[in-house]
Amino acid sequence: MCSGPERGLVSAGTVGLSFAPSWAAGTDRAARVPWDRLERRLRGSLVLPTDPDYPRARHLALLQFDAVSPQAIAYCATENDIRECVLFARHHALPVTPRSGGHNLAGWSTTTGLVIDLSRIAHVTPGADTVRVGPGAQAVDILAALAPHGMQIPAGLCATVCPGGFVTGGGIGMTTRVGGLGADRLVSARVVLADGQVVHCSEDRHSELFWALRGGGGGNFGIVSEFEMRPTRIQRVAGYNLAWPWDRAADVTRAWQEWTANGPDALGGTLDLLLTDAAEGVRPLALVGGFLAGPRAELETLLDQLCSLVGSAPTSRETREQSYQAEMMSLWGCSGTAAECHLEGDNPVATVPRHEVIVATGRLLADPLGTTDTEAALAALESGRHAGQFHNLSMYALGGAAGRVRPDETAFVHRSARFFTGYSAGFLHADDVRAGRAAAERWVDDGMLVIDPHRSGPAYINFPDLKLPNWQTSYYGANYPRLRRVKRHYDPDAFFHRPQSIEL
Ligand SMILES: Cc1cc2nc3c(=O)[nH]c(=O)nc-3n(C[C@H](O)[C@H](O)[C@H](O)COP(=O)(O)OP(=O)(O)OC[C@H]3O[C@@H](n4cnc5c(N)ncnc54)[C@H](O)[C@@H]3O)c2cc1C
Repeated sequence: MCSGPERGLVSAGTVGLSFAPSWAAGTDRAARVPWDRLERRLRGSLVLPTDPDYPRARHLALLQFDAVSPQAIAYCATENDIRECVLFARHHALPVTPRSGGHNLAGWSTTTGLVIDLSRIAHVTPGADTVRVGPGAQAVDILAALAPHGMQIPAGLCATVCPGGFVTGGGIGMTTRVGGLGADRLVSARVVLADGQVVHCSEDRHSELFWALRGGGGGNFGIVSEFEMRPTRIQRVAGYNLAWPWDRAADVTRAWQEWTANGPDALGGTLDLLLTDAAEGVRPLALVGGFLAGPRAELETLLDQLCSLVGSAPTSRETREQSYQAEMMSLWGCSGTAAECHLEGDNPVATVPRHEVIVATGRLLADPLGTTDTEAALAALESGRHAGQFHNLSMYALGGAAGRVRPDETAFVHRSARFFTGYSAGFLHADDVRAGRAAAERWVDDGMLVIDPHRSGPAYINFPDLKLPNWQTSYYGANYPRLRRVKRHYDPDAFFHRPQSIEL
């Protein structure tokens, strides 16, 4: 389960809206494609619009892209299945997109052509020093599989996000400060290229591709069929949740940024300035949460420091010490088994509704918001009241181990970032979505203009912002020319393309 409106840059509701993005306009090619030939070559299965499974198979994790109708969805069971799909799509000039967890916030893991689904390539194989995971392994399953071995790999605030998109885009989570980004823990990857060739890349082999896969963004260079990751070995953690009333929000924002930026690497966390319902008169809350990869006593001392920086006691302060696994499950809101924590329809016991995320984006900021910007950011949160929507201004603590990697060491360039700060808006009731969508977008836009007045700040490809005028620089900075060279070498015809793809 993804943490809901109460925490995280993405506040996910559970209501529906369908719209077809412009890049996914329909084609009339479907009838001429000999799908049976592809089907015969697959170990997995192929779902066509005439199949009863199609309505579910075409869906992403987010309901807002339900109107996109792929010509087919190939559930790949093996790396060779991916190869077959790539060669078939090439031969028939079909647009393709890989899909692992399907959480891309811009809908980039669907297409009107062939969706190459990787959810069945979901193995988790621990070794002595590394772990091999399939691109479609969900964070909650990776957590469960590695827990008995005392290992984990980075995960974000959503239990069903998969390495396919998370690691290739960077991968921010509660352990970013102590263990680096998801991409920082990649040791090697197997990749199916646009010509069907399979390469195994690492620091020593196809090293430029390996470099690009660590933050260059999914769907650009090839389809990763396996990630080899260097796990962290965090045993017990001390979790925390504190809340302050809204009239202390400016103090909490100032104090939290100072506190996390100067805290130990072991400290991970988020600050959420949250309106659970943006109706007139409702007061937002200032919520601080996360965990310390360390003992509870040390956490209590750190929290005392935070409270003293804020200058007032919180209205609630909860701490606990438990295993990393238990803390992540509670952070995700998963009270049952890993299987129950899947999206509905994924397996017979899955209970989590698919997510409606209307708008969510942010910037990777090196400096804390100053007093004036904080006031403006809080005012933006309070403006644009709209009953039935939740509005959130949130900050994720970065820095630590992620900040000690050189900007050109991986494709993830924004190594001086200490905060990922952004706005998200969503809906509490399905009926409000159509009428309120434009207002929600405007609200996020207005907030983002406070944080990034020229729309030119450092952005994160895993939270795409389609309004960035110079997205190449915002996402990739000085690394962009090198990413283009990798693209030209490994995908010279731009077979893999989507909005904001690395250009040739
Ligand atoms: C509710 C929610 C919470 C989130 N929380 C966080 C968070 O805490 N931290 C964070 O860093 N991010 C977070 N994200 C963003 C998330 O990391 C990205 O959306 C990520 O890309 C999702 O991975 P996926 O495999 O589920 O996505 P998909 O939608 O399947 O893929 C994302 C992109 O990668 C491509 N792709 C997929 N699989 C492969 C592959 N095997 N090889 C190459 N390309 C591939 C797709 O074509 C698409 O372009 C969140 C998103 C949501 C919706």
